[in-house]
Amino acid sequence: MKRLLLIGAGHAHAQVLRDWLAAPVPGCEVIVVSPSALAPYSGMVPGWLAGHYRFDQICINFEALAAAAGAQLLTDELASLDPNRRRVSLRSGTALDYDLLSLNVGSTLTPPAPQPGMRVLSMRPLGELRMALEAVLSDPALSAGDQPLRVAAIGGGAAGVESLLATLTCFRSLQPGRTVQGRLISRGDSLLPDMAPGAARAIHAALTAAGVSVQLNTSCTDSAAAGCDLLLWATGAQAHAWQRDCGLALSERGFIRVDEHLRCVSHPHVYAVGDCAEWTTPLPKAGVFAVRMGPVLSHNLRAALQAGVPRAYSPQRRFLALLSTADGRAIASWGSWSAQGRWVWRWKDHIDRAFLQRFAVVTPTPLPAPTSLPLPGDTA
Ligand SMILES: Cc1cc2nc3c(=O)[nH]c(=O)nc-3n(C[C@H](O)[C@H](O)[C@H](O)COP(=O)(O)OP(=O)(O)OC[C@H]3O[C@@H](n4cnc5c(N)ncnc54)[C@H](O)[C@@H]3O)c2cc1C
Repeated sequence: MKRLLLIGAGHAHAQVLRDWLAAPVPGCEVIVVSPSALAPYSGMVPGWLAGHYRFDQICINFEALAAAAGAQLLTDELASLDPNRRRVSLRSGTALDYDLLSLNVGSTLTPPAPQPGMRVLSMRPLGELRMALEAVLSDPALSAGDQPLRVAAIGGGAAGVESLLATLTCFRSLQPGRTVQGRLISRGDSLLPDMAPGAARAIHAALTAAGVSVQLNTSCTDSAAAGCDLLLWATGAQAHAWQRDCGLALSERGFIRVDEHLRCVSHPHVYAVGDCAEWTTPLPKAGVFAVRMGPVLSHNLRAALQAGVPRAYSPQRRFLALLSTADGRAIASWGSWSAQGRWVWRWKDHIDRAFLQRFAVVTPTPLPAPTSLPLPGDTA
């Protein structure tokens, strides 16, 4: 019996399990390791922060998906890896040998220690966001009071602007009588530097409408972040600490170097996809790439187990970004084209729900479409 080990409940592994469900490979067992059974889908995280969705509505249920595919889910975390012995050690102390290993563990951030009286919410890893948000919302200083609530976000990319707008909507709807101030701090000289110029203008307009002050060309020092009650940390993605010593070929930034078949260039029995992997030319750390790698990974794992022919992954040159502005509207960016409005939000909502529906193996009932924008109190 061969063993395929899938580490991480990332977007591509969901696709592997879905294909396995339809056609399992005989003589092979699949074990999935994830810290939790529910894996949030990144595209809907800002909508959840804003209160448009419940947490379970933005998640892929890996427990159900693994069970339907005949795979075993271990609620655990990879702690270290010995690729020469083909063995992983989990946080619980369990050691697992494997024939093929696939890593889809996303990325992380190293936010600063909070100053006294300040809370820090790190936007990565996504799997830890729920507990972190619950801690923020149950903090008496943030959840009630007469003083203005000051929220600052660090990072001028999509995650920074979306999470700030969403968090402001959340607090303003939960505490309608309280002043909630927003500030966006970015080291860069423009917002959304990788997107269409029209999208950057639209996001500036949305931030202005939400009363956010934008500070560009500003590093986040203690003084820049001083005086805020909640700091949203959304800077560039970083590799997990354990990757540094894992013995696999790494890029300068510590991500796992993969070839066109999504195999690690130093250990061909190890595959890596999504944020944790580094392509020959580094790709943006965006969920769309992890999603597009899914079918190729699924095919290549099956090919490796059955002596088949692998397929080459070819990244798209442009990708569609749909950013929620948390006011019932969204902004679209594709190459130099951009658009904005309520219809973009409805389009985004439709795409995101349809994506999750592909993995809803146990409860395939479609979610009701929102007729108006629900707020946190409506969806609790
Ligand atoms: C606020 C926000 C909004 C975003 N919006 C978008 C968007 O609209 N569109 C877009 O394309 N991108 C978006 N992104 C980027 C996107 O989040 C990432 O690029 C995407 O999630 C990467 O997917 P992945 O499959 O590589 O990993 P992830 O989706 O991060 O999944 C990794 C999984 O691995 C698990 N894991 C981590 N460490 C371990 C371990 N040691 N052992 C076992 N399991 C582990 C995690 O719990 C998680 O389940 C957004 C990011 C943020 C922060």
